[in-house]
Amino acid sequence: MKEYNFDIAVIGGGPSGVCAAVSAARSGAKVLIVEQYGVLGGMSTMGQVAPWMTFHDMQGVQVVRGLGQEIVDRLTARGMCRGHVRDTMGETYSVTPFDNEGLKLVLAEMCREEGITLLFHTFVFGAETEDRRIKYLRAANKNGEVRIRAKVYIDGSGDGDIFAMTGCSYEKGREGDHLMMPCTTNFSMYNVDFVKIRDFMLAHPEDFHDKTDMTAMRETGALPDCVSGFFEEWKRGQEELDMHILRERILFFRGVRDDIATVNTTRLTEVDCTDADSMSNAEVELRKQVCQVAELLKKYVPGFEKAEILGIAPIVGIREGRRLAGEYVLTGDDLRAAKRFDDEIAVYGYPIDQHHPDGAGFTQSTIPAYGIPYRTLVPKEIDNLLVTGRCISCDREAQSSLRTTPGVMAIGEAAGAAAAEAAEKNIPVRNVDIPVLQALLRSRGAYLD
Ligand SMILES: Cc1cc2nc3c(=O)[nH]c(=O)nc-3n(C[C@H](O)[C@H](O)[C@H](O)COP(=O)(O)OP(=O)(O)OC[C@H]3O[C@@H](n4cnc5c(N)ncnc54)[C@H](O)[C@@H]3O)c2cc1C
Repeated sequence: MKEYNFDIAVIGGGPSGVCAAVSAARSGAKVLIVEQYGVLGGMSTMGQVAPWMTFHDMQGVQVVRGLGQEIVDRLTARGMCRGHVRDTMGETYSVTPFDNEGLKLVLAEMCREEGITLLFHTFVFGAETEDRRIKYLRAANKNGEVRIRAKVYIDGSGDGDIFAMTGCSYEKGREGDHLMMPCTTNFSMYNVDFVKIRDFMLAHPEDFHDKTDMTAMRETGALPDCVSGFFEEWKRGQEELDMHILRERILFFRGVRDDIATVNTTRLTEVDCTDADSMSNAEVELRKQVCQVAELLKKYVPGFEKAEILGIAPIVGIREGRRLAGEYVLTGDDLRAAKRFDDEIAVYGYPIDQHHPDGAGFTQSTIPAYGIPYRTLVPKEIDNLLVTGRCISCDREAQSSLRTTPGVMAIGEAAGAAAAEAAEKNIPVRNVDIPVLQALLRSRGAYLD
């Protein structure tokens, strides 16, 4: 049976997994990424999620820097990102429009530069553990079953596959019925007339999210980057087209090109991302919804008359899966209190943003910048596993904030550096020297102030 032997094995090549891998490699570790699909980027590529939200706190302080900013700079240098721009929807300080296709290239390039081995088309499905350690992971691909051996493993699967299969404690969904946030299949359209959209917004402000900032559009003629609303058109279109999507508004974003919109409006509740039958049904239902939403946009929304679908995310977008119950559980109360920690490895400031699991709408509240402690990456039961990304140890409110991309990039950068230290010193991940780790992250540009 084919075996892979590395210092660090990162399972999942999403934004968090890739940042973890690059960070570990820059610390001198020999790194493998195991990814079930054929591209890096996770939800930012396969899920067609854009723009990134948000590198800043509400006061305008850039709290995610380091590797996340390096990725933005690399994309921007190629015309594949417009950098950080103000959020015209008013929910965050900034958003960062980028090109999903460009990201595939940039992440692969960064991994190549660091000598990271990429094992694509390979799904990790099982683990052998002994004495609180993972001995090896079991994966399957065209070669049949393969084994992944590493000194330290990083669970970057987003859904917590690795901590679940190694017997770590975790939570899933809300208390009682375990329902999670709804799923969405994003898609993009071209030939969108954002000038017409801007003019309509200025003429009908009541038809948009109440925090929408019209100032720049009115005073300088700027085009909107984030559009949340068209309440009337959505309501009328749903009724007349006999659509039943559990959403009360249209949400879309201007892309890197001015005529491209990323549409985040489909929505399916009661999907379980840890169940293949549930996910298969979601793929079919949500793709049906994509066609319905596109038809509604063309018929009812000014600016979309001549628009056509450019791309549909090949996989359903998952907001929430398992959450590790690790050494510390970060809570919504911690976020509201702007709690900071002695062992914090990242700072973040995206709002608490919970899409309701069983109906339309969402609950969103602005919060100050907060710290993410190292202990949220550390499982209680396994000594050579770290967790990164949207499945770290937190409650549902905290997850609804830290899950967005800049946050998981910062967490990944820390996870990779910590894993490299644990591998080099052959110590349990919980014994990583925190001040040394923090100094290293600062020297690489991270914001931990
Ligand atoms: C509809 C939607 C809209 C969003 N909107 C925004 C937004 O506007 N701005 C923003 O910044 N964020 C947004 N987010 C959040 C953000 O996209 C995700 O939370 C973020 O990508 C999480 O990163 P991650 O690396 O933890 O996980 P993921 O991006 O999910 O990556 C996980 C990776 O692991 C791989 N994997 C999983 N299991 C296995 C396995 N067993 N074996 C091998 N590989 C595996 C997957 O294929 C994937 O590549 C949105 C999310 C969704 C779903």
